[in-house]
Amino acid sequence: MNDLITTSLVQPDPTLDACLATNEAAGLRSIDVAPNEGKLYYLFAKMIAAKRILEVGTLGGYSAIWFAKAVSPLHGKVITLELSPDIAAVATENVARAGFASTVEIRVGAALDTLAAMEAEGVEKFDLIFLDADKANNANYLAYALRFAKKGTVIIVDNVVRQGRVLTDQDAPEQGIRDAFELLKNEKRVECTAVQTVGPKDWDGFAVARVVD
Ligand code: SAH
Ligand code: MG
Repeated sequence: MNDLITTSLVQPDPTLDACLATNEAAGLRSIDVAPNEGKLYYLFAKMIAAKRILEVGTLGGYSAIWFAKAVSPLHGKVITLELSPDIAAVATENVARAGFASTVEIRVGAALDTLAAMEAEGVEKFDLIFLDADKANNANYLAYALRFAKKGTVIIVDNVVRQGRVLTDQDAPEQGIRDAFELLKNEKRVECTAVQTVGPKDWDGFAVARVVD
């Protein structure tokens, strides 16, 4: 079914295919967003005419390229944060091949450090923020996301469900997700929901929030 959705509705893009092939050759785990999910986030970005997007968790740049496709007609910017220099090098290659070297800026380091540096630099607010790195830090990333947000900013938290386990599993990554839900629940600045998905990444899910002021 997911293949049917993708072949019917997600136009083939050689640069995205090349990105996945390069990731595989480089030995990266295939934990990128699924093609139809990448397209969904691209559509979210277009729906709000996002010009500035922040991503936490680059991997090979597959989702960053989707976001770059959404913002590039508006001369927008995608800043994406990656812990590993080796992984960031693969993303740099993929992003350049896709023609988005000047749209996508990859910052290497632990995201809590790069986010702190960006805050100290007085970084401009973002229209869309995508949290997709180490799940244990989701609540911390969310706190930054709220500080980097303005009215109307969309915050997406990826993989809030993994194999449908979020409600039962007590291990640390899921705790990060629970903390993030708790924060979202109590945060007056956002309205939020979460959706479970089924597809090539198995039983998954994401939360989406809109900053109200
Ligand atoms: N958004 C990507 C997938 C990201 S996978 C896509 O859909 O294509 C998660 C990435 O987060 C991995 O590459 C991992 O190295 C990175 N990561 C893990 N911990 C991190 C941290 N503390 N800071 C920044 N990146 C981190
Ligand atoms: Mg993800």
